[in-house]
Amino acid sequence: MTFKELALIDPILRALQDEGYTQPTPIQEQSIPILLNGKDLLGCAQTGTGKTAAFAIPILQKMYLDRHQNTGPRKIRALVVTPTRELAIQISESFSVYGKYTGIKNTVVFGGVNQNPQTTALRHGIDVLIATPGRLLDLMNQGFVSLKEIQYLVLDEADRMLDMGFIHDIRKIIAKLPAKRQSLFFSATMAPEIVALSEKILGRPEKVTVKPEQTTAEKVAQTLYFVSKKDKPKLLIHLLKKESLDSTLVFTRTKHGADKIVRILSKAGINANAIHGNKSQNARQKALGDFKSGSTQVMIATDIAARGIDIDDLATVVNYDIPNIPETYVHRIGRTGRASASGIAISFCDAEEKAYLKDIQKLIQQNIPAIKEHPYSDGCNDLPEPTEKQSNNSFKSTRNSQGGNKNALRNPRNPRRSQKQV
Ligand code: AMP
Repeated sequence: MTFKELALIDPILRALQDEGYTQPTPIQEQSIPILLNGKDLLGCAQTGTGKTAAFAIPILQKMYLDRHQNTGPRKIRALVVTPTRELAIQISESFSVYGKYTGIKNTVVFGGVNQNPQTTALRHGIDVLIATPGRLLDLMNQGFVSLKEIQYLVLDEADRMLDMGFIHDIRKIIAKLPAKRQSLFFSATMAPEIVALSEKILGRPEKVTVKPEQTTAEKVAQTLYFVSKKDKPKLLIHLLKKESLDSTLVFTRTKHGADKIVRILSKAGINANAIHGNKSQNARQKALGDFKSGSTQVMIATDIAARGIDIDDLATVVNYDIPNIPETYVHRIGRTGRASASGIAISFCDAEEKAYLKDIQKLIQQNIPAIKEHPYSDGCNDLPEPTEKQSNNSFKSTRNSQGGNKNALRNPRNPRRSQKQV
């Protein structure tokens, strides 16, 4: 399935192409036609599935196609309510990116900061407002925001909004919306109170559920090596040679790190190449071609560069650096074990990365087995304390005591834009 087959218009297709998206994710594939059709949607999906684009793209498209009916000053026609400032910013960035050729303007409002820049942006006129509930209500009460012209409502991460005690605010906001509108409701979990809230907001919604991504973690054989930072290159060479690993994708956090590993491997006689944002499109294409044909054994990639890569028979993924965003680990290891039934994911963890490892194990609800006997063991094979076996296979189980999702707060939903590539 391609984005074109989803009947998307050219200004959006171009923006997606600029982003390097080659095909829709399952939630996009399922939701976009429903939303373009004008139906309400109840989506059971979490961050990392591509859900922002799943709602932003059809809203932008419909608003763009209706633009001639909406002449005169801009009025807020789409409202996205989301629980945290981080999510609000990410969503606003997504609307800007996917809508960059549509002329549709968005702004974001959230609490904890001076409201003046926000009210100035509102006064200039916008089409899409992304807001956290408390600040939105404040601004509505002060007369800076009118929701009378809203045609599209998105309630994002509804379960977190309830956890964070926003239910009354949400009710007040909903009460001010026109009854005739298209409503979208997303939640990672569907507890009875969430379903009850969704029934108040939605008409007769179509339902879309995408499986949590961590299921990929179950298909891949994962191992862990505790190793000091300085010994990581030697361990990598050792594994590539001794274990005869072929078609191996090695992830590093930085472009600089990727280039350094290429140099080290080349010195050791291993055919390697790097793919990252500093390379020209041609150089990237050539590196990818060589890797796919098998003439390069190892490819080193940053997370951003790896997103556009589609390699079916990738045997091994190496996490040379442990990602600081747990969902990134799941994305990375999901690159292997696709066509072939099984894949191997190897992670190198130094002392400073143990906290990240702990977060990952919590997310995937598994302890990754550590290989204790290896020539570069840093002698400190202690795993972080075992994670609790969690009964609920959802992100909800990773929430912190404040009711927020620790992962999502620290990580924003959009590793592409939040992880600085240095
Ligand atoms: P979300 O679940 O909306 O937080 O999106 C997770 C990440 O996937 C974000 O970094 C998006 O930029 C990225 N993304 C969304 N859709 C696609 C796609 N079709 N292809 C590649 N990356 C995508």
